[in-house]
Amino acid sequence: MDFKDTPEQAQFREKCYSWLQANAELKAGQGRSVEGKLEEHLQKAKAWQKKKYEAGWAMLHWPEKYGGMGASPIERIIWSQEESKFDVPGGVFEIGLGMCGPVMMEYATDEQKARYLPPMAEGKEIWCQLFSEPSAGSDVAGLRSKAVQDGDEWIINGQKVWTSGAHYSDFGILVVRHDPEVEKHKGLTFFFVDMKSPGIEVKPIKQITGSAGSGSGFNEVYFNDVRIPDSQRLGEIGDGWKVAITTLMNERLAVGDARGSDIEDALNWAKEQDFNGEPMIKHGAVREKLADWFIEANGLKYTKFRTISALSRGGTPGPEASITKIVSANKLQSIGNFGIDSADMAGMLRQDAGGDLHAFQMAWLGAPGLRIAGGTDEILRNIIAERVLGLPQDPRADKGLPFKDIPQGSAN
Ligand SMILES: Cc1cc2nc3c(=O)[nH]c(=O)nc-3n(C[C@H](O)[C@H](O)[C@H](O)COP(=O)(O)OP(=O)(O)OC[C@H]3O[C@@H](n4cnc5c(N)ncnc54)[C@H](O)[C@@H]3O)c2cc1C
Repeated sequence: MDFKDTPEQAQFREKCYSWLQANAELKAGQGRSVEGKLEEHLQKAKAWQKKKYEAGWAMLHWPEKYGGMGASPIERIIWSQEESKFDVPGGVFEIGLGMCGPVMMEYATDEQKARYLPPMAEGKEIWCQLFSEPSAGSDVAGLRSKAVQDGDEWIINGQKVWTSGAHYSDFGILVVRHDPEVEKHKGLTFFFVDMKSPGIEVKPIKQITGSAGSGSGFNEVYFNDVRIPDSQRLGEIGDGWKVAITTLMNERLAVGDARGSDIEDALNWAKEQDFNGEPMIKHGAVREKLADWFIEANGLKYTKFRTISALSRGGTPGPEASITKIVSANKLQSIGNFGIDSADMAGMLRQDAGGDLHAFQMAWLGAPGLRIAGGTDEILRNIIAERVLGLPQDPRADKGLPFKDIPQGSAN
């Protein structure tokens, strides 16, 4: 495992930091900024993305012709480590740049790449991911939205759900069923779609964080006879699962750390808060919790070093990267819980003006969603059990059956 930058990496880190220092404010504390209204947040996020794009930092590992600087994976990590020290607006481009971009890079034509990738990197056009359905989340290959070919177009009908950012997205990547007569993984086809196409209806879902309108809000998306040109198909007909896997592999990298209140915030809070006439940090039960989070935070740090080391040797992160989300999302929820609990009655009153208590409340309300998004705790544990530890696979009752013959509950 390599703990230190090489001289070239240290130089590159310095270059990133200098640019960031000249163009952004350092963070005052973790998770303290307040997101604000959707329009205002979008404007700020787009302005920051454009600034980065013009200087080549937006998607630094992409080729120059698409707005990057051809940087290595390790340089990309160095950049994001440095950027995370600054108070910059984020959130709205993660799915597009982290998942849709790589899929377009691998499967779109050269003309499509030239048309769609630069505005995606610049933040002019936002993308979303239309995979999950009411009966297909963990088992996304069980999805039921239909695609029927009509000349050089496809007609799409069905419903997607939990689509982050669909309410402000310009384009989306979509996986649908074109053939129910074959096994479930084999009857899927993958497209990209203009979210302003006639027949698409987006209905925001109000979240417990109150963020129906904010950067992280998600939606139900209905497709009613939506027409998509065949030229917007990514991969062959029936290759939808293969293309979706490319997206999900990238999701593993994009949906990594659960950001927000962390051990330092909990430690400072425990030093400042009073408990029975003395600082809370003197209490044995509090010290025990702090010790647990410290161990988890350091375990995560070294697990990430392992990923960085693999990348620097030209490898790709494997299924063990799933550990990061399980540990960090549960830690976030536990720290949020501690912050609210220790504020006693004040913890129940929502703080909207920023500050530590606001950050703890957002952590507590937002972490359960993070434990579901991009693979639930249980699914990620299954992945670690089967693909990292080599334990036997979950039994699959639907193996070998045509999709139309899989039992689907009384409504069908
Ligand atoms: C904040 C957020 C953002 C999201 N953004 C998007 C998005 O942009 N695009 C998109 O397509 N989707 C998105 N999703 C959806 C997300 O991918 C799904 O919610 C997730 O995959 C779980 O699917 P589900 O909700 O249908 O739950 P289910 O799959 O129905 O799971 C229900 C419960 O059963 C458990 N379970 C299921 N199968 C197994 C098994 N084999 N073994 C053990 N336990 C199991 C699960 O762990 C869970 O506890 C988002 C979700 C959240 C919370």
